Amino acid sequence: MKMDKQDLQKFKKMLLKKKEEMLKEIQHVEKDSLSKSQRESSGDLSAYTFHMADVAQDSYDREFSLGIATNVQQKMLYAIEESLKRIEDKTYGTCVKCEKTIAKSRLMAIPYANLCVECQSKEDPQKKIM
Ligand SMILES: [Zn+2]
Repeated sequence: MKMDKQDLQKFKKMLLKKKEEMLKEIQHVEKDSLSKSQRESSGDLSAYTFHMADVAQDSYDREFSLGIATNVQQKMLYAIEESLKRIEDKTYGTCVKCEKTIAKSRLMAIPYANLCVECQSKEDPQKKIM
């Protein structure tokens, strides 16, 4: 099953949309941490009231999970960038390890996937141990 131009365009759109979402989320996190220093100096809470209410409940846990989320987001963003490059190179949709075609259904779910299901399942347990 080969990718045709229409498929590539479709996945490119999905990737660009995903990238936009990720960037928004990351900016959101950065703004959130910026707001803390701003709050201390100016006392202006207007834009951040909702977040501050959330953070107040358990700030340590929340900051901890935000840190992890940002890390995952950065990895995803990197994977998205790589996939966009692979669309330009016309290598998109091919497993980077075994060079088999990645199932379209998989790409529909994870458009930035660069491994086929088989290679991914071999890859994952190792990463978790490390
Ligand atoms: Zn593979």
